[in-house]
Amino acid sequence: MKINLPKEVKKAIALLEAKGFVAYVVGGCVRDSVMGKEPADWDITTSAKPEQTAQSFKDYRTIETGIKHGTLTVLIDQMPLEITTFRIDGRYSDQRRPDSVSFTQDLKLDLSRRDFTVNALAYSPRTGLVDEFDGLGDIKNKVIRCVGQPDARFQEDALRILRALRFASVLDFEIEKSTAQSLFKNRALLDKISAERIQIELIKLLAGPAVERVLLYFRQVLFQIIPELSASDGFDQQDTEKHIFTVYEHIAHAVSRVKNEPHLRMAMLLHDVGKPSTFKLDENGRGSFPDHAAAGAEIALSVLKGLKFSKRFTSDVVKLVRYHDLKAFEEPHTLHRLLVRHGQAFMRDYLQIKRADLLSLSPQMAQKAKKIDELEVALNELIASDPCLELADLKLKGKDLLTLGLPPGVKVGQTLDFLFELVIDGKLENDKKALLEEAKKIIKAK
Ligand code: ATP
Ligand code: MG
Repeated sequence: MKINLPKEVKKAIALLEAKGFVAYVVGGCVRDSVMGKEPADWDITTSAKPEQTAQSFKDYRTIETGIKHGTLTVLIDQMPLEITTFRIDGRYSDQRRPDSVSFTQDLKLDLSRRDFTVNALAYSPRTGLVDEFDGLGDIKNKVIRCVGQPDARFQEDALRILRALRFASVLDFEIEKSTAQSLFKNRALLDKISAERIQIELIKLLAGPAVERVLLYFRQVLFQIIPELSASDGFDQQDTEKHIFTVYEHIAHAVSRVKNEPHLRMAMLLHDVGKPSTFKLDENGRGSFPDHAAAGAEIALSVLKGLKFSKRFTSDVVKLVRYHDLKAFEEPHTLHRLLVRHGQAFMRDYLQIKRADLLSLSPQMAQKAKKIDELEVALNELIASDPCLELADLKLKGKDLLTLGLPPGVKVGQTLDFLFELVIDGKLENDKKALLEEAKKIIKAK
């Protein structure tokens, strides 16, 4: 098998080899190349010790990324390459990270510390593919399988439990039976993993094409990191006209339907987290969830804080959860008002999550998603029309009111506010003449 390496990568490998070391590309980039996908970045593994790598690349810009763990980032013709010494991880006494690492001259030992067979492939132009654990067979069969004993590997580093789900979602692979059994069994170990590490894998998991299947099949693992979602599992919404899914199934479906952006996927995952605690049967015996969006926003805030998401990401997601039930699509005349209140970015996101939400209800409800398309057209037209979004955009100013004979004072502001409200409700054009006419009427009536 031949893999086309970028010239910068070939250069780095050739340079290390010229110094008498061996070097390979390894991990995700080999997996992706074998699968015919363009790797996002290229990692190199080498027999050179960190100081020998540094010495070899002394004429290049280098960044000491994780020198303790043997990693040096080298910039070759603008391309950053992570070069890591062959390494064996020490014990993971805290289930988080190796207490120590030791370096080795043996590629096989380096490959055996890696998490899954599909990630334990190495390649160099000189040697070709090095595949000690039949990663190639697992790629062909679309299988995620631990390198070595699953229990031992998950107990060493429980983040791998979530990584298995992430790769299953992103690559659309199955998790091999004994690996799957073991990750279910060991899932409580995820409690010891730092929020920062969980966050990264969770976001990647949510972006995968097989996210729905993974969220449904491995829900118990997800509930380990977001226990707040477990109440929605199997929760019957008791309204068959609207809902054909339980709350959690609806959530999983909606996540897979929404545009693939981290904050939208996360908003979908959390949008109905407030449903179980707000459930009521109405007088017709139908389920309803009064104010579940407000309750959900509170829960979402605590989930995202707990997982240490950035303030910006957290507030964007919480706002979407809070307002995911805006009735804009039932009341299109409120669009301008909503745009003023929430801003353009939010309104665009709102339409995305509302569409995904509707498409994950009953077939009758899914019909309504067409209205979202109409609303999207209307929003685009509105934005293109240079709309009045704040008082300063109003084509009538305070001094215009004074020329109409209104004395300076609070009434000026009140009249402008009133006119602004008329404009954003679509009852009056933002046109100086029309505004003056209306202002005259108001002043006269006072
Ligand atoms: P991506 O395309 O998302 O970068 P990747 O496979 O490169 O996927 P990384 O998280 O960048 O994933 O890790 C690079 C490689 O390091 C993996 O392919 C794997 O060989 C190894 N690796 C990463 N994290 C672990 C871990 N927790 N345990 C064992 N091996 C790991
Ligand atoms: Mg990578």
